[in-house]
Amino acid sequence: MSRKIKEIPAQLVSKIAAGEVITRPVDVVKELIENSLDANATKISATIENGGQTRIIVEDNGEGILPEDMELAFKLHTSSKISEERLFNVGTLGFRGEALSSIAIVSKVKCISSVDGKNAMEIVLEGGKVLSKKNGRRTRGTKIEVSAIFFNVPARRKFLRSAETEKRLIRTLITHFALIHPNVHFELLEKKGNRTTHLLQAPSRMTKLATVFDVLGNEIASQLIPLSGQAGRWKIEGFISIPSYTKRDRSLQYVSVNKRIVRSGDINSAIEEGYGAQLLKGHHPAIIVDLVGKNEWVDYNVHPQKLEVRFDPNDNVLEELAQMVKDTLEKESHLPELTEHKAKGVENQPVSSPPEKGEIYTAQPIQAEEQVERYTQYTLEDMVGSAGVAKSGAVKVAGGYRILGHIMNKFALIETDTELWIMDVHAADERVKFEQYENIKSDLVMSQSMLTPVKIKVDHEDFNVLDEIQPLLKSYGLEISTVPETTVLVHSIPVYFDQTIDRQTISNVLQGFAAYFKETSEKAVTTPLDELQYKVVARLACHGAVRSGYPVSNHKLAEILNNLLKCKYPWTCAHGRPTVIRIKQGMLESWFKRVGQ
Ligand code: ADP
Ligand code: MG
Repeated sequence: MSRKIKEIPAQLVSKIAAGEVITRPVDVVKELIENSLDANATKISATIENGGQTRIIVEDNGEGILPEDMELAFKLHTSSKISEERLFNVGTLGFRGEALSSIAIVSKVKCISSVDGKNAMEIVLEGGKVLSKKNGRRTRGTKIEVSAIFFNVPARRKFLRSAETEKRLIRTLITHFALIHPNVHFELLEKKGNRTTHLLQAPSRMTKLATVFDVLGNEIASQLIPLSGQAGRWKIEGFISIPSYTKRDRSLQYVSVNKRIVRSGDINSAIEEGYGAQLLKGHHPAIIVDLVGKNEWVDYNVHPQKLEVRFDPNDNVLEELAQMVKDTLEKESHLPELTEHKAKGVENQPVSSPPEKGEIYTAQPIQAEEQVERYTQYTLEDMVGSAGVAKSGAVKVAGGYRILGHIMNKFALIETDTELWIMDVHAADERVKFEQYENIKSDLVMSQSMLTPVKIKVDHEDFNVLDEIQPLLKSYGLEISTVPETTVLVHSIPVYFDQTIDRQTISNVLQGFAAYFKETSEKAVTTPLDELQYKVVARLACHGAVRSGYPVSNHKLAEILNNLLKCKYPWTCAHGRPTVIRIKQGMLESWFKRVGQ
């Protein structure tokens, strides 16, 4: 290989640079739509063929490009938006003047645009060279057609993913634009041969929530709670999902900063942190959140595709945001009625009829305490009360809860006025126990003493682990002492233990603890407890809770339900798994095709 340094030909330099801005079809769509938004378009329509690899057309009704500017717009580093004094205070989405030129360098482009709605100019380019220019007519706005992307960059073409993947990315991108700009009409069409079909239709709406329904659908929209307020100096607007509604990836997370799409992940992580222990490891909530502040508070100029932003090191927005999520989740407590209430303000949305005691459908968000009170004003006696239990019959419960029974030795069936609940008994009881432990003040030792200490043999490794966490266990009512090198004496166990306390159970508990602590670190949970405490408490809760696979009486089920509804986070267990699955009457009716009857 020759080591002689040579100047890289200008054409190659520009191709390399173009490759940084445009790496795949979705990048073209993003840049073109950003230009349309910068031109104040109110309707933006994208059409793709073969996932954009064959053709991408973006048409808008924006301000248009002057005929004399047409050629200039496709030259590198030409822009009508930037000025030196505005470099650090950019209000438009584009500002580097690289997009159109980059696109033109790696594809074939036809652009027609009109500023006055009459006279238009049409230009055709290939590989960045102008092939033709002519005058024409069209309505106000711009239409840009990009075809044969990377026709002259074979290396890039080889690395393109499947058309399906590109299509999905483009769909997600336009969904995101629509969520950020509810007042702009977006549509995405797909052309296959002579057929054109709609992939996405987001008409101009008055509220973001209405657009959420349009682009994400009822099912997701009904699982969202509003997240809004002030996080430090930033204004936060948007929605997050209830903790039990998650996905295994982050595909339902749409974050923007000053109406720019960002993907850097810091904001997403901060929001997830606010969920704390309610999120199962590897699960991600839906996030549709915009941060609104001054442009000079962030640096957008850190990523070729402008997908990252850099906050001022002194900006505490991320911590504030996590706290805000935490407070919001606590406040909402996401009880079922509230979800329906949220859905109510939106046009065309079917709303199931309110239950008899309709006062919960107030216009104001209801405080968690009030809600819990409504559920818990029925004491256990009420719940199992006068109706009694027929051998195979339901426990009739006041307040609309009826325990129908225990199935598969795992789940409780519960009927409310409008819903069927399936409760995972172990998970629910685990949540109850977890919060009971969490609330223990360290000076309160809630334990039951053994008449004589129970002696358990363990191996060396387990011995060391148990010895180390001994003080912590004690503060939660599990009192042990160690006799080197392999003996543990158990003096007392927590009062919340429901299981029959025999030697084997206690041995299982200790071994379970040791194994749990040897596992490499759990997910980073945020909870009032530190990580070690959390582990102890979660483990105690798990051991103390009624076990799956054993019969449980309806009375016990009623007690667990009653306690669960008093919890701060009733809908997930200590490990983040759901405790209750709710099936609305309407859902059953639609499954049985009884809708409208
Ligand atoms: P930038 O957006 O960074 O200014 P671009 O290469 O994306 O650079 O666009 C170059 C210029 O072309 C823009 O500054 C704008 O004046 C003009 N332009 C591009 N697309 C449109 C459009 N859809 N409507 C009106 N003007 C446009
Ligand atoms: Mg641009």
